[in-house]
Amino acid sequence: MNVIEIDHLTKYYGKTRGIIDVSFSVEGGEIFGFIGPNGAGKSTTIRTLLGLIYPTSGSAKIFGKDCIAHGPEIRRQIGYLPSEVFYYDGMKVGDLLRYSASFYRKDCSKRIQELAEVLDLDLTRKIDDLSYGNKKKVGIVQGLLHEPKLIILDEPTGGLDPLMQQKFFDLLLEENKKGATVLLSSHILSEVQRLCDRVAIIKDGRIVKVEKISTLKESNYKRFKCEFTAMPDANMFSIDGVENLTIDGNVASFLFRGDVNKVVRMLATLDITDIWAADPDLEEIFMHYYEKEA
Ligand code: ADP
Repeated sequence: MNVIEIDHLTKYYGKTRGIIDVSFSVEGGEIFGFIGPNGAGKSTTIRTLLGLIYPTSGSAKIFGKDCIAHGPEIRRQIGYLPSEVFYYDGMKVGDLLRYSASFYRKDCSKRIQELAEVLDLDLTRKIDDLSYGNKKKVGIVQGLLHEPKLIILDEPTGGLDPLMQQKFFDLLLEENKKGATVLLSSHILSEVQRLCDRVAIIKDGRIVKVEKISTLKESNYKRFKCEFTAMPDANMFSIDGVENLTIDGNVASFLFRGDVNKVVRMLATLDITDIWAADPDLEEIFMHYYEKEA
């Protein structure tokens, strides 16, 4: 069953493009990544999902209910971490979290304690005195304290150090194991690839691809880098399957997809001083894909 269904959603801010014709679905129990550079339209999509802004056209459903018509009811079942968090600075962390919890009409005090412990967050501190990373942690606890069935996080990792990021990802995995569905936006694919089952890639307000992470990884590109005693004519590299060729001094670097024998035969005719062949990282495949789409 789909927990989120986005159907031809378009949002203009006056004349400014927010998102155009965005459609994708997130299945129950998935950890779904929403990836794209800054300004691509991730926050706009998410804010529309939460019923915080109105779409220009199209619609979205969460738990089978229209996001606009049932906004308040849906929001009570969602844990949301906005990309930027603002607080009443004078409050203490614990007071703020208790205030947030009162919105859900259930006792969340035990969960608040647990989360604060895992994230190493001092509940007695004033929000005023917290670093950016610690404010982010407050947002994370706020998003998770009521054990929501759907967790939506907009660029959650900014400001978290690698250790904290790992703890936070472990928390999400734990919630996911208990049955929560997760939608996680980021501008850095490599950061979320370990966590997500599928990703939607958004660029300039439009979805360019929805794909399983495992399929993206299987795109069977190889990254080749060769050092020659003397750089051969660039024409040597114009064989089928060679892409993104860069030449730097005596070093040629390219992506290759296809019958690897073709590359090996071409290289065998040249005088090589060093060679590297490796799987490109996902970021590289992603960037490559992006450039092609553009
Ligand atoms: P992302 O979250 O991927 O960084 P956003 O959804 O924030 O992208 O932005 C998408 C586009 O919509 C950008 O061009 C941005 O400038 C524009 N935009 C976002 N919010 C507003 C707003 N409140 N008023 C006008 N334009 C906006």
